[in-house]
Amino acid sequence: MSVTLDTDVVVVGAGPVGLLLAGDLCARGVRTVVVEQLAEPMTESRASTLHARTMEVFAERGILDRLGELPDGGPGHFGGIRLDLTAAVPGHPYAGQWKCAQTRIEAVLQERAVELGARIRRGRRLAGLDDRGDHMRVETVTAEGGKEWLTGAFVAGCDGWQSTVRRLTGFDFVGQDATREMLRADVAGIDIPNRRFERLRDGLATAYRWPDGSTRVMVHVFGATPRTRTGAPGFDEIVAAWAQVTGERIGHGEPLWLNAFDNTRRQASQYRRGRILLAGDAAHVQLPVGGQALNLGLQDAAELGERLAAHLVGQGEVETLDAYHAQRHPLGARTLTNIQAQAFLLLGGHEVDALRETFAELMRFDGVRTRLARAISGLDAPRTRAAPLATVSTSTTTAGDRRARMDRLANKTALVTGSSRGIGRATALRMAGQGALVAVHYASDENAAGETVRLIEQDGGRAFAVQAELGRPGDVHELFLGLERGLKERTGEAVLDILVNNAGEQTAAGVAPEDITPEHFDRLFAVNAKAPFFIVQRALALLPDGGRIINISSGLTRFANPEQTAYAMTKGAIEQISLHFARHLAPRRITVNSVAPGITNNGSPVFDIPEVVEQMAQLSAFKRVGEAVDVADVVMFLATDEARWITGAFVDASGGTLLG
Ligand code: NAP
Repeated sequence: MSVTLDTDVVVVGAGPVGLLLAGDLCARGVRTVVVEQLAEPMTESRASTLHARTMEVFAERGILDRLGELPDGGPGHFGGIRLDLTAAVPGHPYAGQWKCAQTRIEAVLQERAVELGARIRRGRRLAGLDDRGDHMRVETVTAEGGKEWLTGAFVAGCDGWQSTVRRLTGFDFVGQDATREMLRADVAGIDIPNRRFERLRDGLATAYRWPDGSTRVMVHVFGATPRTRTGAPGFDEIVAAWAQVTGERIGHGEPLWLNAFDNTRRQASQYRRGRILLAGDAAHVQLPVGGQALNLGLQDAAELGERLAAHLVGQGEVETLDAYHAQRHPLGARTLTNIQAQAFLLLGGHEVDALRETFAELMRFDGVRTRLARAISGLDAPRTRAAPLATVSTSTTTAGDRRARMDRLANKTALVTGSSRGIGRATALRMAGQGALVAVHYASDENAAGETVRLIEQDGGRAFAVQAELGRPGDVHELFLGLERGLKERTGEAVLDILVNNAGEQTAAGVAPEDITPEHFDRLFAVNAKAPFFIVQRALALLPDGGRIINISSGLTRFANPEQTAYAMTKGAIEQISLHFARHLAPRRITVNSVAPGITNNGSPVFDIPEVVEQMAQLSAFKRVGEAVDVADVVMFLATDEARWITGAFVDASGGTLLG
């Protein structure tokens, strides 16, 4: 007997991790219910720092627009030693760290999840999990003892370090117990100087005044070991520790929130058991230093949303889910090691002073700083390859304007061949304007390619030039050496999301079919057909699932002009790449399309002769020649998520030239 399931996924826990996951699942068409034991969202601020990779994830989903302008979180630190996180990726739009109270993050993620269709069941504690083989039965109970059962295909445990999902399922949670404890509080009505990880004689102290006038204090008395607690520490305890370390009195203040945390390090040895998956603190617990715990959890959620949705609505096999563990577990382990090292430097007594000094010296080297900053920012991990995500329209905020404009290709990389000028340059500018890092390829005109890069950077975008003359032996290899080097230097990995095969040669005046020589014919085919084929072939290893390939053809494959026969034949060939590779790459959700411009002003001298332009204009239904941006906008669209359903297509971008 088949069971009609209440939902596809039951997410346990409505913290930031569970809510991001729920929103992502719903955005991909997966029915989701969130179960949360708290009747109301938390009012405490807890974590408040967002790193570059999380900002990318938020930007891609339009969440940054909802959050509004976020204050710069200033330089970061490694174990309390100053570390400028903008060093992670110079020029990255979100390099550094950004401040946003966890309460605000949760409110925005909840709003998004609900708008996208998630159902949130608050005030319900998870009481039982029953794996029925082909589905899960989840038992919840209210404070009054009211029971409710839900059935779903999967359960995602996002219920924090004391995870009930983890306990009920019997996941291992291996690691080390705490050896050091830190106390923290938000206190109103005190006026003490800000401090940043100050190591004083008796301990470590940090004070930060929030915009609302209250102060976050964090204090560790050297050597303090974790106490057995049943709840939050008393305010007296924190007042005494603060006085011992700083000599300052804060006892007259009003405690708004009291908390103790420690350097426990534990990680689930599996992130998936059958139909149950873990994310965030449920999967790993660590000292919440510098916001890394929250960011690691949010990045888990982004990856899990992608994998679960691919499995449930796509053609993903069970391996898709195992890939979640394979991807996130080693990353989690690495982050936990990084945090443990920081905890040692931060909470160690004076016995670690020499080690801190040596570390600080090493951190003066660019390479060391970059490496640590990339690790903290989450940029040393492969990015989650976002499958199409539905977004809910939001009111445009001024703070979000620039980001909204930049968001459509945020987090993407693109290669546009032949982008030193013409249609290629316009395409490179459009893509960079939407947040992509663009490789500007050229053959010989280094200055023109440099100008494309300059124009992009002037507009706040990111690009680099790559030289390779196509049509010669070794051309594609040379192109990819430069491309991969450029990508690795800027992103730490050689991933190419978008390939635009645009470079092409044509004979401006045309050649009568009787006159074309075999050498000329071969040259046209080498540059316009053979090179794009092998560029696609070579790019296959760099393209992630959901990637894009756009081949620039010509209206001349549909519109006869005998003087361009050989050239048109090469364009016919490039269209075959789109047709056949579209089928070949569909399982990876990579789309492959052809765009066919008509006569397009590429800046060559002929477009300065009004009579000739007038004559050419008559070919278009709109009675004008195309501008490079007319074509670039079409190419740009095909590169976005919105064009995910178009593949193997011939897209006429000729202004109606083919209408006759
Ligand atoms: P363009 O202004 O002539 O620029 C050509 C670009 O391709 C330049 O960046 C050039 O680099 C590069 N390139 C040329 N030969 C190359 C080679 N052997 N190896 C590597 N790079 C090479 O081009 P466009 O007019 O914008 O045309 C772009 C694409 O659209 C072409 O595929 C073209 O066939 C197609 N198209 C154009 C029109 C039109 O009316 N413009 C109409 C239909 C189709 P350098 O600057 O270094 O030389």
